[in-house]
Amino acid sequence: MNCAKRAVTSVGEENFCFDHFCARCYELLERGDSPLSLAAGDYAELAGLLYRLDECAQRALEISLGEIELNNLDRARLLDILLWSGDVTTTLRQKRGKTNAKRAGEEAGQELVEGTMGRGRLN
Ligand SMILES: [Zn+2]
Repeated sequence: MNCAKRAVTSVGEENFCFDHFCARCYELLERGDSPLSLAAGDYAELAGLLYRLDECAQRALEISLGEIELNNLDRARLLDILLWSGDVTTTLRQKRGKTNAKRAGEEAGQELVEGTMGRGRLN
């Protein structure tokens, strides 16, 4: 990503300035929020999206508690990302539960994913 601004965080392998971080979060949130992505029922894609959304929420929290100077609009965006990702991941996890019930034979990778995500939880 070509950007001259200072990177404040990273998601996956990529570094992001504040604006690009928010844009990336909203992109993921919109994907998670779209009925199409839910209807597809692609287990691996769903797990990957959940992982990224958890990561974005974690980063948003870190930025909001960190030393970077933020104006009120910036804070509002971080809060929006946190709350929205909470909504979206809850819905996706419920959806994933139903997908699992239908495809009980394909759960081998689940423990690994849950274990990785568990460390990033807020509580
Ligand atoms: Zn940028």
